[in-house]
Amino acid sequence: MTPVKDILRALKSDAAEDIALVAKAYEFSKRAHEGHTRYSGDPYFIHPAATALILAEYGMDAATVAAGLLHDTIEDARASAEEVEKTFGKDVLSIVEGVTKLGKHQYHGAERHAESLRRLMVATASDIRVLIVKLADRYHNMTTLEHVPEHKQKRIALETVEIFAPIADRLGMGKMKRDLEDLAFPYIDPDAYQHAVEVRKLKRKENAAGLLKLQKEVQRLLAHRNIKNFHTDIRIKGLWSLHQKMHRKGDDITKIYDIAALRVIVPTVEDCYTVLGIIHAEWNPLPGEFKDFIALEKPNGYRSLHTTILTPEAGIVEVQVRTEEMHREAQFGIASHMAYKTLGGDASRRSFITASLSWFSWLIPSLFRNQQSTGTATKVNHPEWLAELKDAHTEAESGEIVDGLKEDFFSHRMFVFTPNGDTIDLPVSSTPIDFAYEIHSGVGNHAHGAKVNGKLVSLQTPLKNGDIVEILQKDSAHPTAKWLDGARTSLAKRHIRTALENEKQPTPVKKKKKG
Ligand code: MN
Repeated sequence: MTPVKDILRALKSDAAEDIALVAKAYEFSKRAHEGHTRYSGDPYFIHPAATALILAEYGMDAATVAAGLLHDTIEDARASAEEVEKTFGKDVLSIVEGVTKLGKHQYHGAERHAESLRRLMVATASDIRVLIVKLADRYHNMTTLEHVPEHKQKRIALETVEIFAPIADRLGMGKMKRDLEDLAFPYIDPDAYQHAVEVRKLKRKENAAGLLKLQKEVQRLLAHRNIKNFHTDIRIKGLWSLHQKMHRKGDDITKIYDIAALRVIVPTVEDCYTVLGIIHAEWNPLPGEFKDFIALEKPNGYRSLHTTILTPEAGIVEVQVRTEEMHREAQFGIASHMAYKTLGGDASRRSFITASLSWFSWLIPSLFRNQQSTGTATKVNHPEWLAELKDAHTEAESGEIVDGLKEDFFSHRMFVFTPNGDTIDLPVSSTPIDFAYEIHSGVGNHAHGAKVNGKLVSLQTPLKNGDIVEILQKDSAHPTAKWLDGARTSLAKRHIRTALENEKQPTPVKKKKKG
């Protein structure tokens, strides 16, 4: 059982009220889960305590750590929402409720459903902290998956790899992504897992001594060239990511050079390029393998220089060069901006804004579908509410980053599905009428009724996030003036007005189709 002092020690803040909040949540959760057990037979409280420790280690704020302790108390234990709000405040309650809501979506394995589910997860998580708690929750559940009934294990493991790892990746949380994948892998494909373990072991045995020699040589060269305060380590590739790469390379392990990579961490960006120069002067780089993710950062904010060199010491080796800050961000992603907000000042705020905009543009590409290519650069037309949000962030004081995370990104939009799993995003309180016109004007103009989650409803029924909507059509059906009251989108209203106008005017005689 994680003792409260471990969580408090890991907590970034040492403010008295933060410590008190977390300590109180610890006791509250312990009591609420009393008598509950995990599949393993262990006391249930082990789980929320471990989740909170992970969150504290990720540098999350006290409210998030407290929410980690409380995340299952409303759903599974004896606490009520009123009680949580009264004891811990609105902020903590809203995170706890967000996590509870997320738990209701389940992945059932269809590839097409994965994309929709990722979007829905993000849409329902009104607060980025909800997603981070959910990731920590999933992480701990994966470490105890062996105790879960076998028939559930694979579904949970697949969900972890298809839904949660990509979300972690998109939030720039590289360490979380890798841990989730490697915990899930043995449950998804035990044979492939064994194979990857062996390949990695074999490769390591082959070049461990050489890599060590190379590492020493790099250290010597850098010290000689007066690079100060650097350090180096050897990064071993994750098993799931190795498995994916083997698959891409047709199982030819001689083509995989990055099972072990040498990492050099230096104080400044200038140092990164100096180190790269020193390394390229000493060892030949492989053509086409150099990547400057500092000048051109990855969409999830990842920054580093990657090069692959030919060495007499260890054969072909990938070298990654980055600063301390880039290293922290590569591991903790969006969480690192919360953790170090007081150190980072403006620069940190800016990169947070960029990161948060880019992650949800990926998760919800339909919001960004008006992309226009202008020469080499791609300009993106953000929807209006997003632009407003961005401006609000840019003008905000740097101390308001946390408020930014609480911002309900999706208070204006919701996501509903077609019967085959495609996502349609609509303004909140849209109806089947809006949905129908969003699909096609023809569908709208002949809408006759709607089924929401399998039940017949009127076309004017407000839809909710996650609804599955089916439009029933009839050739004789046509828009009426009443529909205008039921429509939220300007697209639907425009089509309805046009259809009504056309009816008023004497319609030109149409040739009857032969049928
Ligand atoms: Mn949980």
